[in-house]
Amino acid sequence: MYKKLRLSQKSLSRKTKGSNNYQKARLKLARIHAKIKDSRLDYTHKLTTQLIRENQTIVVEDLAVKNMVKNHNPPPSPPGRGARGVGSDANWGEIVRQLEYKAEWYGRELIKIDRYFPSSKRCSNCGYVVDKLPLDIREWDCPECAAHHDRDINASINILAAGGAVSVCGARL
Ligand SMILES: [Zn+2]
Repeated sequence: MYKKLRLSQKSLSRKTKGSNNYQKARLKLARIHAKIKDSRLDYTHKLTTQLIRENQTIVVEDLAVKNMVKNHNPPPSPPGRGARGVGSDANWGEIVRQLEYKAEWYGRELIKIDRYFPSSKRCSNCGYVVDKLPLDIREWDCPECAAHHDRDINASINILAAGGAVSVCGARL
């Protein structure tokens, strides 16, 4: 699909603007874009339905979309944080929107953690928060307690713990 997209973009760029062939190539490109959008939406629906069905409580980070897009090479999804592994192709806002109404349909609890909560930078072992953790750092050691962390698993533990706190006492983070 993406190869087709690239070829079609190339073909359009070679046509004279306004010509019949340009119009044809433009339509073809638009159809490919629509197909990609459809299959993406289909995928997010499958993903969100599965997440809702298999979990009573789901905790998500209310991530800014731009943060998702920066992460070009997401690692394979660790348990409990599956949706993040879909990477820049998926529309995080759309995933959260679908989780919201499906949680209601199925009687599940959806908890959103503020995106400024330092889920990645916080050591899930001792609570120490590091100053910086660039996105390309996938593993790190806590300078305080020396615990070794996988970036996403550590963040998952923090998010889950924060979600638990919200769930039990309605705390605002
Ligand atoms: Zn630590």
